[in-house]
Amino acid sequence: MTPKTRYEIAVVHGDGIGPEVCEAGLRAIKAALPDEGKLAFREYPAGARLWQETGVSFPEETFNACRDADAIFHGAAGLPEVTAPDGTEPGLDFGLQLRFRLDLYANIRPIKLHPGVTSALRHFEPGEIDYVILRENTEGFYAARGGGNVVRGEIASDTSIITRKGTERIVRKAFELARSRNGAPRDGRKRVTCCDKANVLRSYAFFRRVAREVAEDYPDVELDFALIDAMTVHLVKRPDFYDVIVTENMFGDIISDLGAATVGGMGMSPTAEVGDDNGFFQAAHGSAPDIAGRGIANPIGTILSGGLMLTWLGERHRDNALIDAGARIDRAVGKVIRDPGLLPGDLGGTATSVAITDAVCEALAG
Ligand code: ATP
Ligand code: MG
Repeated sequence: MTPKTRYEIAVVHGDGIGPEVCEAGLRAIKAALPDEGKLAFREYPAGARLWQETGVSFPEETFNACRDADAIFHGAAGLPEVTAPDGTEPGLDFGLQLRFRLDLYANIRPIKLHPGVTSALRHFEPGEIDYVILRENTEGFYAARGGGNVVRGEIASDTSIITRKGTERIVRKAFELARSRNGAPRDGRKRVTCCDKANVLRSYAFFRRVAREVAEDYPDVELDFALIDAMTVHLVKRPDFYDVIVTENMFGDIISDLGAATVGGMGMSPTAEVGDDNGFFQAAHGSAPDIAGRGIANPIGTILSGGLMLTWLGERHRDNALIDAGARIDRAVGKVIRDPGLLPGDLGGTATSVAITDAVCEALAG
């Protein structure tokens, strides 16, 4: 695709700290762009509060706007105390429906230790943890959501479906990503690690087999394998070995949170969920109702998600101004967070969301 003069961004603030972190993200995105008018932001309603007020959590007009926009930017959705009669959380419909209806098959979770953040793994320095988890977002056990069985109150079952098409496309994306990155921190090697449980479950053995086949098209990238149980150890002991990790839905969910914990927690972690036609960007954390409205939420995960959005849009449309702006957000965060006075509460500091966002915007302006 070619660059556009203007990109439409559908913005959904959501619940809890959603509106606070979303505002922070939008401010950073605008500050990063030399030409502010390049993005047109339009707000749409969705979430748990909306459901309480109207009985609808994700209006069809919001869905249509998200589908037709160039990208979707989101705060956070869902409130645990707002539940439907069947016990499910209507606030979570937004993310789930986007994922399945827009076929956002790649969940991209960069795990990067920024300067100023002390890793829970104390012997690792910034620059030594810098890998990406690529989680398949539409298959496996989670795709069967609600489709499982409980027999006579005695036996429960869920089925994990892994398809060749679904595996090929996520593995291919992993190799493309490895090609475009600088490689693993420790040795600079371009490496895709396929994380599975091929020794026990057929569906994962199939995932591994397909990964091996796809790898033949990428002889310049090393292919490596890890079983999920061993992987949890490796990500604690030697995170510097990893470059791109590709894995099935449920395992990706689990190791993404583990990875986030090693780089400052959920408040520091951005997410991109992308398909062939749409991209959805939000922090990895939820709506954190316990700290909502107090101005202390860590906005960095959402700000970094804004960076991912600019980079994704830029690469998709071959628009270098956007690619540059995405990289600048990442660098600005690195500059700001190394000031102990600007550490957020979840990293042991006392800085407010607004103070941190101000500093990021200032770094972007300078
Ligand atoms: P979800 O169901 O959406 O995954 P969750 O139940 O895992 O949500 P979160 O809302 O992600 O829970 O947050 C868990 C706790 O972590 C919050 O209650 C809050 O104390 C803390 N937390 C989450 N995000 C942030 C943030 N951006 N800044 C500071 N603290 C946060
Ligand atoms: Mg969670």
